[in-house]
Amino acid sequence: MNTYKRMQALGRRPAAPALVRHIAVRRADGATLPSHPACAASDPQSCAHALVDARLNEALFRYERVIRDRFDAIEDVLRSLSPYQHDLDFAEKAQVMAEQRLGLRWPQSALEHAWVAGVDMKTLFAHATFEGVARCVASADFDQAAWRTALPLNVARWREFGYHTVDISPCADGRLQGLLPFVLRTVPDEAVLVKAYAGALFDIENDVADWAQRQVHQYASGVFGLDYLKVAVYHFSSSSPTQQGCAAHGSHDDVAITAAIERLYALRHAVAEQFGPDMAPQVVLIGVDTDLDAIRIHLPDISGRLHAQRFLDSAHLYRQTLGLPADVALGHIEQAVKSYAHDLGGLGAKGNESGMQGLAVAWLVANFSQIEYVLHHHAGRYAVIGHDEQFICVGDMVPRLHLRNQFYYAHLDTVEEGAADLDVGIRIFSGLNVRRGLPVPVLVHFQYSSAVPDSRARAVQRGQRIRAAIATRYAELCSRGLLQCCVAVSDRRGREPLAFVADDASVSPCMH
Ligand SMILES: [Zn+2]
Repeated sequence: MNTYKRMQALGRRPAAPALVRHIAVRRADGATLPSHPACAASDPQSCAHALVDARLNEALFRYERVIRDRFDAIEDVLRSLSPYQHDLDFAEKAQVMAEQRLGLRWPQSALEHAWVAGVDMKTLFAHATFEGVARCVASADFDQAAWRTALPLNVARWREFGYHTVDISPCADGRLQGLLPFVLRTVPDEAVLVKAYAGALFDIENDVADWAQRQVHQYASGVFGLDYLKVAVYHFSSSSPTQQGCAAHGSHDDVAITAAIERLYALRHAVAEQFGPDMAPQVVLIGVDTDLDAIRIHLPDISGRLHAQRFLDSAHLYRQTLGLPADVALGHIEQAVKSYAHDLGGLGAKGNESGMQGLAVAWLVANFSQIEYVLHHHAGRYAVIGHDEQFICVGDMVPRLHLRNQFYYAHLDTVEEGAADLDVGIRIFSGLNVRRGLPVPVLVHFQYSSAVPDSRARAVQRGQRIRAAIATRYAELCSRGLLQCCVAVSDRRGREPLAFVADDASVSPCMH
């Protein structure tokens, strides 16, 4: 079901699709929205900044359509199938329709007795959702080819700015899942680590381990003089600040920012204590307005402090430089970053002030394209500013799927530890799916390393343990077929992109 249909089903007032989607923007509850901070025009499409990459925006929009259509088609197909479920040739009809419109086959066991008891739509829905995820991962090279090479922030740019690794921890919120290619126009590759946590509260020990591994790798490769950059990404909602901010921090923006800053300081302290002050990674804080995808960049002052209220604002800079020729606009942004650094008394960048300033300019300019993407393709603000995910992902994040609101993510090692996050996810899907009679698809996914003996088997066992614990915790939903859970594993080195794990080769790998 697409966003428009889903909002209608939820009784909300959606932004109109297709031809009229760019007209007035009102929030779902009818409240008047604040004026757009980047574009003052009544028609968002009339804003066109000289530094925006319009071709890249078109490529990203095609990718968004491909991915969303893959999931939107599922409900349409199931609705089309419904009138035929008592026909003698239903199974055959259903398979043909699935192959033609969804590119998959249903598990035969789910179709065989349809003529007696009716078809189990919940199982078919979950099966198609999981297959859709697998297809997105398997065809990522093809789906993403048009924009991957056109993204402006890549390994060469990191080196130019003085970094060998950029380690980014956004909040696990589904609205930040397009962070790299969309919001930051950054190539998702081996130089960029992304580790999402609720509230951007990343794991210090894991980060120290990643930092150490990357440093060793640099020395082993004979590369010196490049540094490790850690970025925490918080988020907020400019049009519904107390309702649609970061759930992990109760939609209190100040709390979210302070918590992220404290985590960055803690990482720096941990590395400095163990390996010496000169070794501590550089840190940057970024905020994302998830209604517009505009960013704030907070750079450290000369003493290394990050300031909650002192930041570079991409929406503000977009508006200031709209209508200027590209070179003049770029000069203005460079000057704005210089003045910001000057006001901070210089940057805490370990002597690499020009590199950090260069990175800030690059991310600000890159984000102009995303601001315009949302202006042109989503009427300036997303129609659904809150949750609108397709499935819940538990364990490790699904790799190679880069799009806003595709899944609710619960990072966990055991259900006991991650129970609070998972309960929030189930609650969200009770509104999105269960109330319409559709199940909550839960994908339990763990990564393994093919370089480590038996790593895959351990990942499988872990997934199966988590699945059993989920079945116990949400027994009532499971017994009604309203929670469908599936285990998958993938190789960190990419040799196995995403494989479902079957308990028994004769049945579908998914259970309820
Ligand atoms: Zn959050």
